[in-house]
Amino acid sequence: MNYTNILQEIYQEIQPYSKMGAPASYIPELQRVNPDRYGICLYTIDRNEYAMGDCDERFSIQSISKVLSLAIGFSRMGDRLWKRIGVEPSGNAFNSIIQLEMEKGIPRNPLINAGALVMTDILLSILSDPEKEYLAFVRQLCGCKDIQYNESMATSERDTGFLNAAIVNMLKYYGNIDNDVERVLSFYFRQCSVEMNCRELSRTFLPFADHTHPFSFGDISLTTSQVKRINAIMQTCGFYDEAGEFSYLVGLPGKSGVGGGIAAICPRKYSVAVWSPRLNAKGNSVMGMKALELLTTKTAISIF
Ligand code: GLU
Repeated sequence: MNYTNILQEIYQEIQPYSKMGAPASYIPELQRVNPDRYGICLYTIDRNEYAMGDCDERFSIQSISKVLSLAIGFSRMGDRLWKRIGVEPSGNAFNSIIQLEMEKGIPRNPLINAGALVMTDILLSILSDPEKEYLAFVRQLCGCKDIQYNESMATSERDTGFLNAAIVNMLKYYGNIDNDVERVLSFYFRQCSVEMNCRELSRTFLPFADHTHPFSFGDISLTTSQVKRINAIMQTCGFYDEAGEFSYLVGLPGKSGVGGGIAAICPRKYSVAVWSPRLNAKGNSVMGMKALELLTTKTAISIF
């Protein structure tokens, strides 16, 4: 497969979309990013890297971090997790609160905000130094020692994070949060503030695609079956209320973030990370989605 040529063709073909959409505005710090950035990196399971565009510039991974939190929680708690969080697509916006009240404080899945806030609460209870251990895991997955939280991004989000505060308070009301509400919010916003570039993000997701190596990083390990289940959750719940559309157009498990990043995997073949900050109305990167749609069309490989 000539991935170099394919990535170049994709770059040409997505140009008509380059001014469509707008960066997320509800987190003030995200507005400082140049909206015209575009980077992509594909990393194969035989460790070949194909990158182009702004693939060395770090960006805020935002909700993509929810997959990494899930990996830690699932590794430590196993199926006990599912007493507190479901595995069904929500069909609602990532920060919706309506469903949570109807379903009495059990979030639909770990990849929407409510689910990730419960996961954050779980991590606070099971990790002895949560911020440090979370970052250590992410650095090991990525193979990069200088991955960091962006503290000004986390503070900026806390200053305007009224809806997330409402969600965690409702969860607490229903008895699904054990720790202090402010503590949950501050760890959650830190996870969202982790910064990576496309090369680093594609490496971070390779273990989810690579069933030939055990998923084992420090004291976090997952069975092949658990990796399969995380991929299934990405497939059905990874794109807010556009998960069906992403499945239909792209056909890979993945997760998007409001920083404009998308990480996706093609099981047993590659992981791919794409970044372009302009988002569509559902909060997914316009060029990122189009690039991945073209990738699976041109390679004629997806999970379907
Ligand atoms: N930090 C963002 C929030 O909680 C993450 C949203 C996202 O990337 O989907 O609203």
